[in-house]
Formats: sequence, C-alpha cells, structure tokens
Amino acid sequence: NRQIQLAARPVGAPKAADFKLVTTPVPSAGACEVLLRTVYLSLDPYMRGRMSDAASYAAPVAVGTPMVAGTVSRVEASNNPKFAVGDWVLAYAGWQDYAVSDGTGLTKLDPNIGPLSYALGVMGMPGFTAYMGLLDIGAPKAGETVVVAAATGAVGSVVGQIAKIKGCRVVGIAGGAEKCRFAVEELGFDACIDHHSPKLPALLAAACPKGIDVYFENVGGKVFEAVLPLLNTSARVPVCGLIAHYNATTLPDGPDRTPVLMRNLLTKRIRMQGFIIFDDYGHRYPEFAKDMGQWLAQGKIKFREDIVDGLENAPQAFIGLLEGKNFGKLIVRVAND
Ligand code: NDP
Repeated sequence: NRQIQLAARPVGAPKAADFKLVTTPVPSAGACEVLLRTVYLSLDPYMRGRMSDAASYAAPVAVGTPMVAGTVSRVEASNNPKFAVGDWVLAYAGWQDYAVSDGTGLTKLDPNIGPLSYALGVMGMPGFTAYMGLLDIGAPKAGETVVVAAATGAVGSVVGQIAKIKGCRVVGIAGGAEKCRFAVEELGFDACIDHHSPKLPALLAAACPKGIDVYFENVGGKVFEAVLPLLNTSARVPVCGLIAHYNATTLPDGPDRTPVLMRNLLTKRIRMQGFIIFDDYGHRYPEFAKDMGQWLAQGKIKFREDIVDGLENAPQAFIGLLEGKNFGKLIVRVAND
C-alpha cells in the first residue's frame, strides 16, 4: 500500500520534500469493514490549509500521516452487508492505494451515470461549492454582470456556466490565453481576461461596462484589487477561496488598503460573505444534485478534467495546482477503473 504522507509543514510554496512516499502493508477489512482501492484521487486547494498548523476551520494533517483527500474507490473486500465487492463509492480515503472503512461517510456511486470521476468534480464538492456560493450568496439576477476568477477551474467553470443559465453576463478571469479562449469558446462566457496581463484593471473595466453585480471570489490578491473599484451598489461577493494567498508567509507590503475596502463596503452597501461548503450547506446537497444532474444531461454544463496518472505524481500535481498549472478539475488516476 503506497501512501503519500506529509513529511514536513511547508513554509511558503509546498515542495517535493514536504511529501514522502511510504510503502506499508495492504490493510485488511475487519468485522463490518470494507477494503477500498483508490481509483481516482481529488487534488484540491484546501489541502494547502491542511498542511499548515495555523488555526482554521478543520484540523491539520499530522506530520508522518497520509495526506487527506476525497476519492472514488472500488470495494475490494467486504465484511459489511451494505457493500459488495465491485461496488463504487465516494470516500475520503486520502493519498494512498488502499484504505479500510466501516462504511461511515461512504456514498455509493452508479457507474452508469456519467464518468465516475465526476463525483469529485462537477457532481461533487467543487460543483456543489459553485452552486451554493453563487445562487445562495451571490443571488444573481438575469441581466446582471457576474465575474469569476480561476474561471476554467473546478469551481469557477461551474460558477460561470450556472450564471449563464440564470441569464447573466459572465466575465471570467484566468491565467493565460488558452484558458481564456476555452472559457469563451467552450464554456460560453461573454469575455475572459488574462490575469497575467499588466493591463488587468483596464481590460476588466472594459469587459464590465455596467460594473460588477456579483464577484465570486476564488483568488484574492491583485485580482480582487482590479475588481473592487468596479463593484456596483448592492453587489454581492461570495468569498469562496483566496488561492493567491495560500502560500503567503507574511502580509503583503505597502500601504494598508483595509480602509479603501471598508469605504467601498459601506458606501456601496456591498455584501461579502465567506462560506465553507459542507459546514454551511451540507443539508442542501440533494437540490444541487437534482439541478446539476439535469443540466449535465441537457448538455448545459461542460466540465473539463485534468487527469494525472500515478499516485507518485500527486505531490507535483498539487504543487502545480497552486501555480495555475492545472487546466480543469485536477484528479489523479491511481488505478485503472
Ligand atoms: P481550480 O481548479 O480553479 O485550480 C486552482 C486555480 O487557481 C489554478 O488553476 C489557477 O487558475 C488559480 N490560481 C492559482 N494560484 C493563483 C494566483 N496566485 N493568482 C490567481 N489565480 C491563481 O481550483 P478549485 O476550483 O478547486 O478551487 C477554486 C477556489 O475555490 C480555491 O480558492 C479553493 O480554495 C476554493 N474552494 C472553496 C470551498 C469552500 O467551501 N469555501 C470549496 C472548494 C473550493 P488560473 O491559471 O486561471 O489563474
């Protein structure tokens, strides 16, 4: 059983030496337990938080234990009457080949409905995050302008497409010409701006002639700075993620811009609200699954995956996620399905 463990808490950007590949005996299922084979492993930005012991909404991974992750796993052996050998489940088995579970928290998956890996993406945590953050906090109305960053990623790509379904003008922000082309031509966004351009503020302003009504925040940093002056009165800002800051070791240099932010919030009556998807919205998964299942079946939502082969490549792929190297939902194929 190969495991990728946290070897050291990263300082700044994670590096290969912060992870360690360890081989342990394959565990066996005890009474009422199942043995799970990891087939798809989800890599997500929140894992950077778990590598750190700074106070957060969830406990950190202990050094010397496997990194955590959602997985699509196959039941290889079962002593639990609820699961049969060959069943597919959504699990939280972590960065390893095998895991044992007593069945708690496992969700059975139907391999006949869409790709199994969708349970980690568009039908899973990222898709659910996009849906609730946009619709419940962003509350977009037809004709409004919605801006989303990390626009071709797991969450952002779904945010923009749902906003289109709701009749909004959608402007994406993404890293590079190829991602921007994809957002417009494949995902149907009205425009997409490359955040690597030094002209980001002016290009964004030109793409949002009526200002911004909903900004779905995935990134922070210079992207938020470009957005802030364009926010309209009564704008909503679901604060979903701040990936530009996850590797930061200090606060940014320069004048304290908090008063500028506060003045904008006050004078424009802007509503900014953070959320943690399962803590805040876990009970609303069924309504998401119903809508998303329909949109996928109707071809209204497209979902790009970036699949990396081999558990041993997970650390490098994760490091790349924090640098924008992924193009679509990042998944590791640990075994063939
Ligand atoms: P993505 O698939 O979008 O991958 C991350 C992307 O972030 C990269 O591809 C890159 O896209 C962009 N990025 C990385 N570093 C920077 C940077 N320094 N500046 C600007 N952009 C950067 O990831 P997800 O869709 O899984 O996650 C998107 C966001 O949603 C993250 O912030 C994540 O933490 C958050 N999230 C929050 C949840 C919640 O419950 N609150 C749940 C799930 C996700 P590009 O090249 O286009 O810049």
